[in-house]
Amino acid sequence: MSVPAAYLAVVLIWSTTPLAVKWSGEGPGFLLGVLGRMGLATILCLALVAAMRLEFPWHRDARRAYYAGALGAYAAMLLIYWAAQYVPSGLISVLFGLSPLVTALLARPLLKAIIERLHAGLLDRVGREILALTGGAIPVGGMLKLFGLLEDTLVLLAGDAAGLANPVTGAGIAAAVHSGRLAGEAAARKSPHSYEEELHDLYGAALERALRRRRELLDSVPGKAALRRGWIAYPEYWQ
Ligand SMILES: Cc1cc2nc3c(=O)[nH]c(=O)nc-3n(C[C@H](O)[C@H](O)[C@H](O)COP(=O)(O)OP(=O)(O)OC[C@H]3O[C@@H](n4cnc5c(N)ncnc54)[C@H](O)[C@@H]3O)c2cc1C
Repeated sequence: MSVPAAYLAVVLIWSTTPLAVKWSGEGPGFLLGVLGRMGLATILCLALVAAMRLEFPWHRDARRAYYAGALGAYAAMLLIYWAAQYVPSGLISVLFGLSPLVTALLARPLLKAIIERLHAGLLDRVGREILALTGGAIPVGGMLKLFGLLEDTLVLLAGDAAGLANPVTGAGIAAAVHSGRLAGEAAARKSPHSYEEELHDLYGAALERALRRRRELLDSVPGKAALRRGWIAYPEYWQ
């Protein structure tokens, strides 16, 4: 979707939503209004996932994200539906429209202070002086077989050893930390297959895409279009 079209859609949806909020809260009451909306949204989303044959991750971390998202959205919607009993829908539209701006204004001093504290703490630890420059190889061949037996010992691979570093960006720290934790838990449960399944769910598609893009770049002398397709910041990378 083009950015202007997406922007227009967001403006249209959020400028008309308060009216719908007000209407659906009238009569049956705001509680039923918000419940109906959430229920309908859930059914629509599940139908879309099924119709578009999208993968629907259901591992533990995905479930946690769903619970956190649902709780946040539901609490916010509950307050909006309650407030709509007293605030005109036009004013709610204006508040909705201003919320990104207000969030940015509120976040700036909060985040700035956090980053400055972090930076000061880091400088205390590592100092300002550059002592040496170094480099290192990054494994970029994609995900390997994640477990096997060494004699009788079950061995699980995590992080770089498992080939989890992204073949395009080289980023592997987050995946190394996360997979290390999951590998430890799986080892304690002696369930290597669930570990493999979870890692494929989490990183499989992203790594495969990155590997494909990397190979496309290496297989030719890339022009501008191929370069755009080869870097994550461009929409072409994700198509
Ligand atoms: C130059 C460079 C820049 C990078 N920049 C980024 C970045 O900006 N963001 C990002 O997300 N990722 C980055 N990465 C990738 C990231 O560093 C790795 O993906 C990540 O550190 C992998 O973690 P790991 O624990 O799997 O492996 P490692 O961090 O390599 O840890 C493996 C450890 O095992 C030790 N070891 C090896 N063999 C043995 C042995 N036989 N016995 C005992 N110990 C052993 C090693 O010494 C090492 O300490 C970068 C990598 C490089 C090389």
